[in-house]
Amino acid sequence: MNGIAAKLTDTIGQIDDVVSEKSSTIGPEPTLFVILVTSTLNLTLLARGKFTPTGMFFMATVIDGKASAAELRKTLAVDVAALKRDHGLVPGLAVVLVGEDPASQVYVRNKGKQTVEVGMESFEHRLPADTEETVLLELIDTLNTDDSVHGILVQLPLPKHIDEFKVINAVSHDKDVDGFHLVNVGRLNTDGGGVVPCTPLGCLMMLKSTLGDLSGLHAVIVGRSNIVGKPMAALLTQANCTVTIAHSRTRDLETLCKSADILVAAVGRPQMVSGSWIKPGATVIDVGINRIEQDGKTRLVGDVDYDSAAEVAAAITPVPGGVGPMTIACLLHNTVQQAKRQKGIS
Ligand code: NAP
Repeated sequence: MNGIAAKLTDTIGQIDDVVSEKSSTIGPEPTLFVILVTSTLNLTLLARGKFTPTGMFFMATVIDGKASAAELRKTLAVDVAALKRDHGLVPGLAVVLVGEDPASQVYVRNKGKQTVEVGMESFEHRLPADTEETVLLELIDTLNTDDSVHGILVQLPLPKHIDEFKVINAVSHDKDVDGFHLVNVGRLNTDGGGVVPCTPLGCLMMLKSTLGDLSGLHAVIVGRSNIVGKPMAALLTQANCTVTIAHSRTRDLETLCKSADILVAAVGRPQMVSGSWIKPGATVIDVGINRIEQDGKTRLVGDVDYDSAAEVAAAITPVPGGVGPMTIACLLHNTVQQAKRQKGIS
């Protein structure tokens, strides 16, 4: 028995060393070891994990986007109150919605509600789906010169007959809160100034609060869209990661993903990335929002198969409740930044 106990103590000691080394990079997550004591007094080390309502697993830390967003909004509310008190400035966000896309209507409603909650002004402009491009461009012109508006967001996608590129670049780059204007895209990829697109900005904030310094980590981003993949790559490059961007033509995506310390999935394919694609101990950011049918009901899932991924990753964002809430909070953050810039307040 003494021999078995000593061997077990040694094993636990060795694992503890590995875990404490890992904890210093992934944060202070409590670790438990399960030891099965059988009737014959054989001791078996079963698993490293945390207690969960369903049993004992090696489970990733959940990166709680909802809580991070609430925290960011709290900070912004304090900032906004100070701007009002010290400078008589109330940041204003104008959101323009063309058409009746149900998902866009929900997003616009949520954005307006949260804008007001942090003490800013919200202006909503709803236009019918058949609005002519010139009418939309005239509205943007008016908002560009309106002093009470510090941020302008045109909800995408736009109806097919409207040129998105033209509309995005008609918004003054000083009032662009999406970071899609060419000037802001250029700045993100050069001096790092300007406004950063909300979704990748939220992802970066969550990565930094989970991992601290990102220097030297290998980040793989699956997806190369202008709104997520490319700006995410620029941000992670600035944060000194070694960045690989993957897309639909990438060869052996699974092996590539498995080499990532940080894996960002922004594909738009439900649960495409499974646990077997993930390096043990990696941090996974799931940007995807996909509605699927299951058991006669619909539900939201990400681009990552959460259950299998959570058994391998050290930390993971859930869907819903991960990237989504942070995206809206970052929109408010960008509006406050633009309001300060326009008034020369640091
Ligand atoms: P997108 O413009 O459609 O881009 C998708 C990217 O994924 C493309 O670069 C595409 O490659 C790549 N891709 C498609 N199939 C692939 C495959 N089988 N293997 C590898 N790569 C593949 O999408 P997006 O706008 O970036 O959005 C991605 C997801 O994020 C969507 O689910 C969207 O709803 C969600 N999203 C969420 C938020 C949020 O706030 N949480 C914000 C924005 C987007 P190619 O370039 O080669 O075609």
